[in-house]
Amino acid sequence: MASLNGGRVTVAGAGALGLCIALELARRGTAVTVCDPAPVGDNASGVAAGMLAPVFESVLDPDGGGDLDFLRAARDLWPAFADVPIDRSGAVYRGDSGSAVRERLDALGADWRETPDGPFSPEDWRLDPGAVMTRLYAMAGRAGVTFEDRAVSADDTGLLVLATGANAAGPAPELARLTPIKGHILRVAGGPQTGPVLRAEGVYLCPDPAAAVLGATMEPGLDDRRVDPGQAARLLALGERLWPGISALRVRAEVGVRAATPDGLPMVGWSATPNVLLAVGARRNGWLLAPLVARTIAAYLADEDPGPHAARLDPRRFDDKETRA
Ligand SMILES: Cc1cc2nc3c(=O)[nH]c(=O)nc-3n(C[C@H](O)[C@H](O)[C@H](O)COP(=O)(O)OP(=O)(O)OC[C@H]3O[C@@H](n4cnc5c(N)ncnc54)[C@H](O)[C@@H]3O)c2cc1C
Repeated sequence: MASLNGGRVTVAGAGALGLCIALELARRGTAVTVCDPAPVGDNASGVAAGMLAPVFESVLDPDGGGDLDFLRAARDLWPAFADVPIDRSGAVYRGDSGSAVRERLDALGADWRETPDGPFSPEDWRLDPGAVMTRLYAMAGRAGVTFEDRAVSADDTGLLVLATGANAAGPAPELARLTPIKGHILRVAGGPQTGPVLRAEGVYLCPDPAAAVLGATMEPGLDDRRVDPGQAARLLALGERLWPGISALRVRAEVGVRAATPDGLPMVGWSATPNVLLAVGARRNGWLLAPLVARTIAAYLADEDPGPHAARLDPRRFDDKETRA
């Protein structure tokens, strides 16, 4: 382990995690360089739906690893972290397992109510990833962060934060624990423009004035970004249950690759490699978790208490299990 002592920090990766980490560090007076060879937004963060959805991610994605209180705590950091538009229209369940979902909402202690459309929760929010990334770049630049259009390499000395998404090739052995999960997502012209996110098993539809967002496939083990017309067609067919007639609308398919750890939660903390911190493996919740990850990384670098959630995100949580296996 090492700590800051006034040195420069290199952040590898300009996705949601890397940008939020860089911004948080720069605000604390740290000199930060962000390295990323990809064009702005050409990553999982750029194609994501942008849901900040503690309730329905807890209900519909049991492999996500987060409990409702944890995900809520992460969501609640956003308004103070960055002045970005957040849509608080909530989310409504429109799938076939209504009674099981209602039971789960009650068991979780979620804030929800019955509506003519189905069980509705005001707790799930959404941001626009493209717009927010533009804003984060601007805020980070103003705070003094410098950006370099390159991958990190062995020549990078000093403190390094790996926020490299699904790339498992960096200088930290823990990256071998990441599994890629390819995801197709469709931008739909002429879909709903406002209102709650519509949710069901394996599919959601986020209203948006620019283009509604229909997501998303989960294809574990695949890390390519080629559009598979079969997957896109299956997703569109699932979308019919949320928005009848959607198949007839004009859609544009995109692909992103998420990174997942064995327990569904990210690895945030010191690597076994000296001077390297990890901020990877946020799976389906990278946008939701980004400010919390940023605060945690900044606390480690400042030798501060990393907070109540740090232990469950610590990369070393897997060490013991691997030794015993
Ligand atoms: C279809 C889809 C929908 C999603 N919807 C949501 C959602 O609604 N809500 C939510 O919270 N999350 C969502 N997610 C998940 C979220 O997008 C990810 O968890 C999040 O984007 C991960 O951010 P990241 O910064 O870790 O990785 P990325 O956004 O993938 O960024 C990693 C960056 O690291 C760079 N990089 C890689 N290697 C190097 C290197 N050696 N040196 C320098 N740079 C490097 C890459 O070029 C890339 O730009 C979705 C994901 C997908 C695919």
